[in-house]
Amino acid sequence: MTPDVRDRDLPVAGPPEPLPGTPDAGTAGAPAVGEAVWARVTGLIERAEEVALACHVTPDGDALGSMLAVGAVLHGLGKRVAASFGDRIFAVPRLLRYLPHQDLLVPPGDFPEAPELLITFDSSTLERLGLLAANAERAREVVVVDHHPSNTGFGTVSLIDPGVAATAMLAEDLIYRLGGTLDRDIATCLYTGLVTDTGSFRHASTSPAAHLMAARLVATGLRTDEIARELWDRSPFGYLKVLAAALDRATLEDDLVWTFVSQVDRAAYGLPYDEVEGIIDVVRRTDEAEVAVILKEDDQGVWQVSTRSKGAVDVGAVCTALGGGGHHNAAGYTSPHGVEQTMADFRALLPRKA
Ligand code: 5GP
Ligand code: MN
Repeated sequence: MTPDVRDRDLPVAGPPEPLPGTPDAGTAGAPAVGEAVWARVTGLIERAEEVALACHVTPDGDALGSMLAVGAVLHGLGKRVAASFGDRIFAVPRLLRYLPHQDLLVPPGDFPEAPELLITFDSSTLERLGLLAANAERAREVVVVDHHPSNTGFGTVSLIDPGVAATAMLAEDLIYRLGGTLDRDIATCLYTGLVTDTGSFRHASTSPAAHLMAARLVATGLRTDEIARELWDRSPFGYLKVLAAALDRATLEDDLVWTFVSQVDRAAYGLPYDEVEGIIDVVRRTDEAEVAVILKEDDQGVWQVSTRSKGAVDVGAVCTALGGGGHHNAAGYTSPHGVEQTMADFRALLPRKA
């Protein structure tokens, strides 16, 4: 069969060529991570026998995917690897159970107490490490791999680039710099990070570099259709009912739309907390609203707040002021209050149209 001409220049997994006329990582000006930082990170890893890896609590695709990809490469390089996240109830969210390399995961109780070298992924603050924050405080070196503008710089080395669409983009770069290569399983982990944080290449953060990375990953033979189905196109039946309840009580106030999902809502259908993550994507489509908010009560009775902006409002700044963090257009925090008080506090900080 004659090869399709369109496939002739298929990229192969490997360090990208610089884009003509565009900075490497999709950022303007000098790269956010200098060569000296990269050299320090690769040096620390090369000298370590054991590397501890942690990502933020209730991990999303970018946090867990980036961590498992780097973990698999480090394991392949002969390092002892322990990867974890600091949730009290340690369970990989159902949406992410298809990810390869979960054998690298250990519960927080089995995580090295005072690691020689700890690398964190997608965590913007020490607190976002949950139970593992204490381990990080005892670690000799903490390399923070992240892309949140709100990152507090809590490590001993900051591998942080707020200009990249996903932590997975920094993870891919790190893998090449360690001499690692991408196979289909490692690419599946990285692709999960890239596709979740760009909202399937729809968000403004979707740079040329993000698309080129996707091409390298897809060229390993991974199944984009199966990944998309796992992430977005399946739910237990109870999800429909809980979604209906959340949408039924959605409230439009000026240019703010908001709703909530309580523990009671979920209990009626035995729906786990991690199943309600996608509801914000329905709520935020509201034309009349600039900002969308959902309050989700977790199994401990604590309200997690997810916020989205269409661009005019920096919800990252609002959520940071309320003790959380995130990006300009997607951010969150944990509220110690109930629904009414939480919304009152949020409204008070929301910049209003002139
Ligand atoms: P999501 O609403 O999808 O859970 O999160 C959106 C963004 O806000 C993500 O980048 C996430 O890391 C960040 N985020 C969500 N909740 C918190 C939080 O409690 N603290 C901090 N620092 N960031 C959060
Ligand atoms: Mn991320």
